[in-house]
Amino acid sequence: MSRYLTPALAGLEPYTPGEQPRVQNLIKLNTNENPYPPAPGVAAAVAGEVPALRRYCDLNCTALKDAAAARLGVGAENLLFGNGSDENLMLAIRAFCDAQRPLAFADVTYGFYPVWCDLFGIPKHIVPLCEDLSLDPAAYCGLGQTIVIANPNAPTGRWLPPAALVPVLEANPDNVVIVDEAYVDFCDAENASCVPLTRRYDNLLVVQTFSKSRSMAGARLGFCVGSAGLIADLERVKYSMNPYNVNALTQAAGAAALADEAYFRQTTAAIRAARTWTAAMLTALGFTVLPSQANFLFAKTPKMDGEGLYKALRARGILVRHFGAPRTKDWLRITVGTPEQMQALETALREILLSK
Ligand code: PMP
Repeated sequence: MSRYLTPALAGLEPYTPGEQPRVQNLIKLNTNENPYPPAPGVAAAVAGEVPALRRYCDLNCTALKDAAAARLGVGAENLLFGNGSDENLMLAIRAFCDAQRPLAFADVTYGFYPVWCDLFGIPKHIVPLCEDLSLDPAAYCGLGQTIVIANPNAPTGRWLPPAALVPVLEANPDNVVIVDEAYVDFCDAENASCVPLTRRYDNLLVVQTFSKSRSMAGARLGFCVGSAGLIADLERVKYSMNPYNVNALTQAAGAAALADEAYFRQTTAAIRAARTWTAAMLTALGFTVLPSQANFLFAKTPKMDGEGLYKALRARGILVRHFGAPRTKDWLRITVGTPEQMQALETALREILLSK
């Protein structure tokens, strides 16, 4: 840190991303990436875009918006694309919170929400999850604050059907409710998303990403859906910070990914099947496993503490995520990978737990 940094930023605790090791042959189950490659058409679409790189990219992400609008049954004016959902969440928090308008979110949820609050000087209202790490929507009713709810939640994987969040929308009519649906495409239910509710509630902003279900974490692409008014507000912030926020290669990749619905269905189904298998395997080994609708499982064993198990798995070439906070320190968050990766996880766990 230099002596020039402003005191407010010097006191900031930045977000800690999951480790991205350069070592080969690790089974990487720590950042909820998709084990399958992007849709087959993505490579050619990206290559075809190279000649156009001399120009600035489309500020409006027109092709992407048209494709997503048709798929989601909303208008192009209801969509904003950004540099991963991280950017869209940041724009939303910047737009809809300030010193007088705190952000309310769970104590166990995505670790970036408090960081943006600190960066922008926004007070945090931390709402504890229930004893079993489930979220009680009643705890968010009538808050009169901006709210962000990850659904499915991370790192728990627990999910609430959209109808359960309607009371939160109705009880906070003068405040924006952000629903972070980074993992929604892994839900078993067909109508798992809150997107259709954006037509009825102008205070709802739904945030989704191409990082998980579309296998494009490295491309940095996310979008949000909301009333035309909310989207215009976010554009106001975007055009005041970084108008060319989604580069041309990523726009081409995203449009190609959206065009291949069959591949999307096939890969998300494979992950859901591997999730079911892995949850049963962990339960059989004596783990407590939270019911997950995401591409990860949150699990703990009475035989070992979370950090010890994390280290033992790492020593066997398997990387999972351990969070050290009081309510999460006993648990591991394990990304659901391919069936082969999950079998390797089982072998490693059996070896480790045998001696316990
Ligand atoms: N929200 C949640 C709940 C997440 O877990 C993540 C991934 N770390 C994100 C948002 C951000 O995803 P991305 O920026 O890659 O779209």
